[in-house]
Amino acid sequence: MKVATGLGQDSHRFESAPSGKPLKIGGVLFEGAPALEGNSDADVLMHALVNAISGVHGVVVLGPVTDALCQAGVTDSAEYVKEALKHLAPARLSHVSCSLECSRPKVGPQIEAMRRNLAALLGLAERHVAVTAHSGEGLSAYGRGEGILATVIATAEIP
Ligand SMILES: [Zn+2]
Repeated sequence: MKVATGLGQDSHRFESAPSGKPLKIGGVLFEGAPALEGNSDADVLMHALVNAISGVHGVVVLGPVTDALCQAGVTDSAEYVKEALKHLAPARLSHVSCSLECSRPKVGPQIEAMRRNLAALLGLAERHVAVTAHSGEGLSAYGRGEGILATVIATAEIP
């Protein structure tokens, strides 16, 4: 058995003019928080996860495929992750490690909800989905509250 890893990143800035769209991170709604700019639901963690899965199989999904889905009315980023997973066989995801950099909203209280949600989406046990968050001491645009950066490493086993 071989092991492959994929690295994925994505970032979105907060909307300058509120559109009324909710903020979703890792499929979890953050009530009352400002939304992120983007043509889809702008779920930055899901998008980084799509890129991490692409990092395993080499097929770029975020952009070429997801833009077409978005234009067809599919704005739920969980659907983009499912699209990325279609190219994974015969490899199988075994673990994902996610990191968020932002100073707002406070994501700490929702980390377990994000893990549960992503584990269900990926068909993994919760112990194989890790989510951490930090503010980077305000050194970056994310730490200054201008947007959110997500980084994901996906590990897959190849029989
Ligand atoms: Zn994105």
